[in-house]
Amino acid sequence: MPNNVSFLDSVNRYFDAAAPFTDLPEGLLKQIKVCNSVYQVYFPVKINGEVKVIEAYRAQHSHHRSPTKGGIRYSNHVNQEEVVALATLMSYKCAIVDVPFGGAKGGVRINPWEYSESDLEKITRRYTTELIRRKFIGPAIDVPAPDYGTGSREMAWIYDTYRSFHGDDINAAGCVTGKPVNQNGVRGRTEATGRGVFYGIREACNQKDLMDKLGLSLGIEGKTMVVQGLGNVGAHTATISQDEGGVKIIGVSEVEGAIYSKDGFDIHEVMRHRQEHGSILSFPGVQTFGKEDRRAVMEFECDILVPAALENQIDRDNAPNVKAKIIAEAANGPVTADGAEILAKKGVVVIPDIYLNAGGVTVSYFEWLKNLSHMRFGRLEKRFDEGAYRRIIEQIEQTTGKTVSERDKQMIVRGADEIDLVRSGLEETMITGFQGIYELYREKEGINDLRTAAFALAISKISNDYIALGIWP
Ligand code: GLU
Repeated sequence: MPNNVSFLDSVNRYFDAAAPFTDLPEGLLKQIKVCNSVYQVYFPVKINGEVKVIEAYRAQHSHHRSPTKGGIRYSNHVNQEEVVALATLMSYKCAIVDVPFGGAKGGVRINPWEYSESDLEKITRRYTTELIRRKFIGPAIDVPAPDYGTGSREMAWIYDTYRSFHGDDINAAGCVTGKPVNQNGVRGRTEATGRGVFYGIREACNQKDLMDKLGLSLGIEGKTMVVQGLGNVGAHTATISQDEGGVKIIGVSEVEGAIYSKDGFDIHEVMRHRQEHGSILSFPGVQTFGKEDRRAVMEFECDILVPAALENQIDRDNAPNVKAKIIAEAANGPVTADGAEILAKKGVVVIPDIYLNAGGVTVSYFEWLKNLSHMRFGRLEKRFDEGAYRRIIEQIEQTTGKTVSERDKQMIVRGADEIDLVRSGLEETMITGFQGIYELYREKEGINDLRTAAFALAISKISNDYIALGIWP
């Protein structure tokens, strides 16, 4: 048997392991499991005077809620199975954090680092046109977002292309999320996945029975962390965990290799160093592992290992050597089903992707709501709240006869800005999401890991929608 059964097989195995705990009829389970529609398209783009044929996809896994939602990936490894697996994870992810969307995912099979900016723009605009032609994009239909190899720049091109075809749609900005803030984006979207990962890990570390089981102290502070990949997700997870959680970062890896130091290092300094010198490997005072050995990162000794790159990184080959106590799945599908079985036997706790990296789509939901409401969050209440808080302080001053300094007053009365509200909504979502999964994990006889609990929760929530739609009695 090949070591790496496909990504989709892994996802379906996780589904099958959780399904019996939901007591749902066979037909309904099947409908939830299958991917509803996949659009595959080839289109020509002229690059340096030569025509290149580009292969691209958009998969919509589930329409139990509308629109469908999920990122667009630019990578050489894109294929139909991968896109379907990723779209499937999106459905479960949205259900767990109560984001009212079905799951989707897009992919363009290119290595984005081999193309110039203007070539990428051509490819992105043409891909968007293909999606428009087939009605695979729209604020009420299917709403893309960034994923591996794409970012706010690509989202701006998608938005602009969509708008030029739909000038009469007042909600056109809601056709894509992850846009730049000055182009109808929302503050806090870029950091959202990483920040959500931090909140999720913090929540897990706050569970006494879980930490006791692992022989770890309660709370995230002082825990050691290793991060694979310093892309958008990994970089924000690492910096926020260090700055706000008091975590000690002791290892990181990137395309050029990996570094490790049991005393830890400042992650900002490592990132600055990489920007200046083009590599983490020349960072002073650390153990280094070259490009060929970079997978060693998965075997570094630490409390928390954060795979934040691509799928299938921990499989049955390297799972036996994992030394981390907690694996925090910031990426989608970083642990194969075979790898997961081995980790479970070793007593490693895996915080599953379908919960842990849901911060991105959560803040995408906020951005979509902002686009539909045509107004920045906080605009209505900020000044009103400030006035109310000021009156409370004045009352306290009057009754106590003491005065609060103007500086302290300014701090206390500050009304919420958009970024405060986005972070607050994200934190609330991640805490509530964890509680839902943890309750099932603790209370349902036979559920022995967080992933099975998360899948069971997602399947039940999606089934409720199908039942409410009257499709199932
Ligand atoms: N690509 C991200 C994910 O895998 C975000 C999706 C979105 O915001 O729609 O969750």
